[in-house]
Amino acid sequence: MTTQKVDVLLVGGGAMSATLGTLLRRLDPSLKITLVERLDHVAHESTDGWNNAGTGHAGYCELNYTPTNDDGEVEIDRALSINANFEISLQLWSYLVKEGALPEPDQFIHPTPHLSFVWGEDNVSFLRQRYEKLSAHHLFKEMEYSEDPAVLAQWMPLVMKDRNPDEKVAATRVAHGADVDFGSLARNMVRNLEQHENFTLKLNHEVDDFDHAKDGSWHVRVKDRKSGKSHTVHADFVFLGAGGGALPLLQESGIDEAAGYGGFPVSGQWLVCKDPAVVSQHHAKVYGKAAIGAPPMSVPHLDTRMINGEPALLFGPFAGFTTKFLKKGSKLDLLKSVSISNLMPMMDVGINNMELTKYLISEVRQSHKDRVATLRDYFPACQDKNWDLAQAGQRVQIIKKDAQGRGKLEFGTELVAAKDSSLAALLGASPGASVAVQAMIEVLERCFKEKMASGWADKLNEMIPSYGKSLKTDPELLAEVRSYTLSTLKLAK
Ligand SMILES: Cc1cc2nc3c(=O)[nH]c(=O)nc-3n(C[C@H](O)[C@H](O)[C@H](O)COP(=O)(O)OP(=O)(O)OC[C@H]3O[C@@H](n4cnc5c(N)ncnc54)[C@H](O)[C@@H]3O)c2cc1C
Repeated sequence: MTTQKVDVLLVGGGAMSATLGTLLRRLDPSLKITLVERLDHVAHESTDGWNNAGTGHAGYCELNYTPTNDDGEVEIDRALSINANFEISLQLWSYLVKEGALPEPDQFIHPTPHLSFVWGEDNVSFLRQRYEKLSAHHLFKEMEYSEDPAVLAQWMPLVMKDRNPDEKVAATRVAHGADVDFGSLARNMVRNLEQHENFTLKLNHEVDDFDHAKDGSWHVRVKDRKSGKSHTVHADFVFLGAGGGALPLLQESGIDEAAGYGGFPVSGQWLVCKDPAVVSQHHAKVYGKAAIGAPPMSVPHLDTRMINGEPALLFGPFAGFTTKFLKKGSKLDLLKSVSISNLMPMMDVGINNMELTKYLISEVRQSHKDRVATLRDYFPACQDKNWDLAQAGQRVQIIKKDAQGRGKLEFGTELVAAKDSSLAALLGASPGASVAVQAMIEVLERCFKEKMASGWADKLNEMIPSYGKSLKTDPELLAEVRSYTLSTLKLAK
């Protein structure tokens, strides 16, 4: 078996590894970096444009980021954090565009207003309270609110056409929202990395075994999926950016920090319309409220999309149950991930989430007619024949132990790192690719502490002007940064 020695091994070629590779390469161009991807292209799992919703998650429209607490108050903290984190992504992308490392912004990001839309007295009063709280904060000061059907009809004509005029409705809008083709973004990042002599891309190669050597490095077995032959990569640092495949790899690594983690896969489907006559009448991402029992990522939304230069409307996601951890994974993924350390937490989650199970079963049993009936809540005049069903990507929700040692289901993302900082894995999928830059900065801060203290932090600051400062508490900094990113990425009208 041949061996190769690298400084950094990136496992998986999605948005996360592409972002970490980009950051590392700019922080230290002498680093030898190899990216291993099991498919014949990078960014063809969750990061591909058709596999995710392409929402540049900034907390503008996603009602699940602003829950109501037991006192009836709308909580906005999560929305503020997500908004500030998205601004960090926008800064890195702006820097890369300016440097010529990414193409023109219209190749991967498109200005698309973000709207939240609700109906019924209770929901309208929730949205009004949400608007009052959010718009009082500088991060959300551009948010608009209306209960006037005529204004709403201007913002989203298809949603308001043929709607019951007696129904109480309300919407908020942020005009500078974004639709992001994360597939195009990640592919362009990797294309740029490939131009560098210290970067190697290995497609059709799969990581399947790890050995932690005495000197602290990792000996990683990489299999060529075409020839079936394996070779070993010796890496000082390994990042598991394998999307749904990160959990089994983390378990395989055997690090203590992996104990107790399990995964709950949820698949998704979209209704897709490519009819130009329909597509041209909607220009927004319109998010509603999730159905009772639905997981937070199943909030219905009607989206303008631009994927690989092709315009479309997407509605969904409709959730489904699967035992695969990757769209192109194996049906045995879930079973293989069960171990002694996570068996109890996984059983707890199965027993304590009956509402979710019932919801997933009801989603799976839906017919095309049922799905179009749900779409009619957002587009009353839609016609069945214009909409086709398409398979979205896989999400693997995190299962971990709570303070009492019982299993609980998490809907966010989590970075798990070895205590010697030699390996890190990103689990979970929400808010996802939108906050990839902040997630990868966390990798740098946790696993490259000394380098960050001796120069990397300053270099990061050149790429991300707000790095080390708080956009949440500094309105002037936010104004400066936002004006720079919106104009560089051509998101401002
Ligand atoms: C339905 C849906 C809607 C979403 N909507 C949004 C949204 O609107 N906005 C947003 O920001 N995020 C969204 N997300 C989340 C977002 O898509 C993901 O967070 C992001 O793409 C994850 O990137 P990644 O690099 O971690 O994983 P992936 O893109 O899945 O990439 C992982 C890669 O690792 C490879 N791999 C796996 N195992 C191995 C192995 N053993 N060896 C080598 N390679 C391996 C895979 O083939 C794959 O290419 C959505 C996700 C889904 C499923």
